[in-house]
Amino acid sequence: MFNEESHLKQPIRWAMVGGGRGSQIGYSHRNAALRDGLFTLVAGAFDLDAQRGRDFAINLGIDESRSYATYKEMFTQEKKREDGIQAVSIATPNCTHFEICKAALEAELHVICEKPLTFTVQEARELKALADDKNKLIAVMYGYSGFPMIHQAREMVRRGDLGDIRVVNAQFAHGFHNEEYEKNDPSLKWRVTPEASGPTYVIGDIGTHAYFLCEMITELEVESLCCMRQSFIESRAPLEDNAHIMLKFKGGAVGTLWASAINAGSMHQQKIRIIGAKASIEWWDEFPNQLRYEVQGEPLRILERGMGYLYQDDAGVSCNRVGSGHAEGYFESWANLYARFASAFNAMDQGNQKAFADMWFPGVEAGIEGTRLCEKCVESADNGAQWVNYKN
Ligand code: NAD
Repeated sequence: MFNEESHLKQPIRWAMVGGGRGSQIGYSHRNAALRDGLFTLVAGAFDLDAQRGRDFAINLGIDESRSYATYKEMFTQEKKREDGIQAVSIATPNCTHFEICKAALEAELHVICEKPLTFTVQEARELKALADDKNKLIAVMYGYSGFPMIHQAREMVRRGDLGDIRVVNAQFAHGFHNEEYEKNDPSLKWRVTPEASGPTYVIGDIGTHAYFLCEMITELEVESLCCMRQSFIESRAPLEDNAHIMLKFKGGAVGTLWASAINAGSMHQQKIRIIGAKASIEWWDEFPNQLRYEVQGEPLRILERGMGYLYQDDAGVSCNRVGSGHAEGYFESWANLYARFASAFNAMDQGNQKAFADMWFPGVEAGIEGTRLCEKCVESADNGAQWVNYKN
């Protein structure tokens, strides 16, 4: 079971940039960070509209003097305080991630940033170098990677339960944007606007989630990829609302990744199937407590979260917050990640390299790879779906 006894002397003093009133993802961050008493929300620059941001901060219980109009003001003022913030979460449109992350690191803060981390791999690397220089961490909010059954899947691959991995089939294909809803939805409008969203829409917005699960569970390295992308709502071009990516991994495994916002009628359909020489596993985010385990020639097994037959020594399994049979879900997955971020930030601040070395969480490397996926898919798709080398 999840250990709710805090090992921190004090909760981490935490702020948010973005994630203001009515935003899509702000509440998920606050809910996750505040769930276990590991973070305390003491400041914020929540909104592009300064007044709305301030009102919102005050309604969240933040002191008026720490409800800031801009992130720059917040970082400057908080640095002057003895009880200033130690970490910040960035939940703003993609185009701002680089500059806000950079400013946060320069202000000596640990950072939790939304995906995709940056527009280019070069920017992401620059952030990594700055974080290393400042002895600070960047975590990236791949929120699905906190589900216990994803950690079970990773452990099964590691222990060879599937045999050698041959095929990975991943997708995140919802139907919510099958029409031009951006006309009345600012949160979608920026996603289909290159200046705000970056070089991709669905690849960066949801493909990076599916890709991260693939990386995390299989630990395979992509050698080359081929991407076809298109915009069924024409006004979204040059960005895509649908993309198909073929992957070749080092060692011979192959895979496909489908990212789509026009899969009419679908809710999320984020699923990943990993096929080994002797067995396959499959997971859907709409049924996160179950993992299908299919051994060739044997009846289907559905593994259930929290059960004694799961691997017990993996930290993911111990993230269960309630006994099996209850429906744990999305918010718990996020809280599991925030709990890991708190431990990592704390270990880093204490100079506890040993504790830190054993810790798993989606960090800056995961952010770099998500950005690389976007970059390489564009390179491939915009050259007639050519195969491109992944790492150069
Ligand atoms: P949104 O448009 O719904 O909200 C953005 C918020 O940021 C608004 O409150 C806006 O006022 C504020 N904002 C914008 N620029 C700002 C600035 N310079 N300073 C302070 N506040 C600013 O967007 P969203 O859907 O919440 O997405 C935000 C980020 O989160 C994006 O990068 C997106 O890709 C990511 N996201 C991640 C997940 C996930 O599962 N991890 C889910 C949804 C969105």
